Amino acid sequence: MAADLNAFITEETIEGDGEGPLADTTVAVKDNISTAGVRTTCGSEMLADYVPPYSATVVERLTDAGATVVGKTNMDEFGMGTTTETSAFGPTRNPADPERVPGGSSGGSAAAVAAGEADVALGSDTGGSVRCPAAFCGVVGIKPTYGLVSRYGLVAYANSLEQIGPIAGTVEEAAEALSVIAGPDPNDGTTRDPAAVEGAGVPQGGYAAAADGDVDGLTVGVPTELFEGADERVVETVEDAIACLEDRGAETVEISLPSVEHAVQAYYVIATGEASSNLARFDGVRYGHRADSDGNWNESFAETREAFGAEVKRRILLGTYALSAGYHDKYYEKAQDAREWVRRDFEDAFDDVDVIASPTMPVLPFELGEGLEDPLRMYLADANTTPVNLANLPAISVPAGEADGLPVGLQLVGPKFGEATVIRAASAVE
Ligand code: GLN
Repeated sequence: MAADLNAFITEETIEGDGEGPLADTTVAVKDNISTAGVRTTCGSEMLADYVPPYSATVVERLTDAGATVVGKTNMDEFGMGTTTETSAFGPTRNPADPERVPGGSSGGSAAAVAAGEADVALGSDTGGSVRCPAAFCGVVGIKPTYGLVSRYGLVAYANSLEQIGPIAGTVEEAAEALSVIAGPDPNDGTTRDPAAVEGAGVPQGGYAAAADGDVDGLTVGVPTELFEGADERVVETVEDAIACLEDRGAETVEISLPSVEHAVQAYYVIATGEASSNLARFDGVRYGHRADSDGNWNESFAETREAFGAEVKRRILLGTYALSAGYHDKYYEKAQDAREWVRRDFEDAFDDVDVIASPTMPVLPFELGEGLEDPLRMYLADANTTPVNLANLPAISVPAGEADGLPVGLQLVGPKFGEATVIRAASAVE
């Protein structure tokens, strides 16, 4: 293992059961996804010694399909970040350039796959955390439709936005892992059977069968708003990848998604609001760190939160403020209105196009250290990924090529449960 990348927090094996479609496949699991008997830290001092008594549904499904889990990957603390630098376990380095970040928050997962330390990895994507590191590390990442993959056993950051998704070296491998983890779960009431959704088009033989490169007749929408403000080198590389789709028979049309200019702002109000409520459970009573406090219960709870890092504390404060009486209408409800507008913009766009293409990230991978100095700049880098979570849609990041020797990702977004279409389009770019 390339220990210097720091892709793993814990290297421990969970053997797969026998023969399934993923026999001989190694899987790295983001450290906010529960693994029975193997510590699950969420990249936080708060859970540094926490060992879950049960495994997430996705982990059960992978091992049942024969895969071997090889370890738990580094991540931004509780998924809060875009660089993997907010981890309490030190940053992960980008295999393409070790002086740069691998993206986040599932940076360890993408770095492990890019460096050949695992065949497939799981990440979670609340506002881009599978797609961003896939783009920065030059691998493939799928953020499924909300409700396609069970969140049972995922330590919650923002429940209404997040999905677990696979990261792999090729579209086909990522699609195969998606087929294994997808589908209804009685332990997560928000999951749905895609086969029961009209127009979902789950291919016979699973999602990997869709990775056939056949985009003849496909209409690709190119939204001007998701190219504005992006680094020119990123735009050029992504435009070349889109031209590749045209060469293979796809038609491109320019479209407009006017609401997306409000997406990052709406996302950070909603995500931090949900996080402030979710993280209240870390009070030192049931699990995790407990401060050595002489105070009453209130003081003890407060002191226990010393185990949260600066970014997590910032977000709890932001979220608590946005949800508080008197400010709820001004921030949280406005953000919900913006979310609805984004959702409708996408829905209207999909009346005319099959997939929507853009850069995954508007920037090239940051240098190590850049991000910690300027949180607002990091938040703005989520401009193209967060609209997809607000609208609960499926998306993939596929390598578009390189700029200045650094990987650039093409994002392809589909209508709800349109995974097969984005997988098909992405396979035509490889
Ligand atoms: N950068 C986003 C955030 O910090 C992405 C988080 C995620 O998808 N887990 O909120």
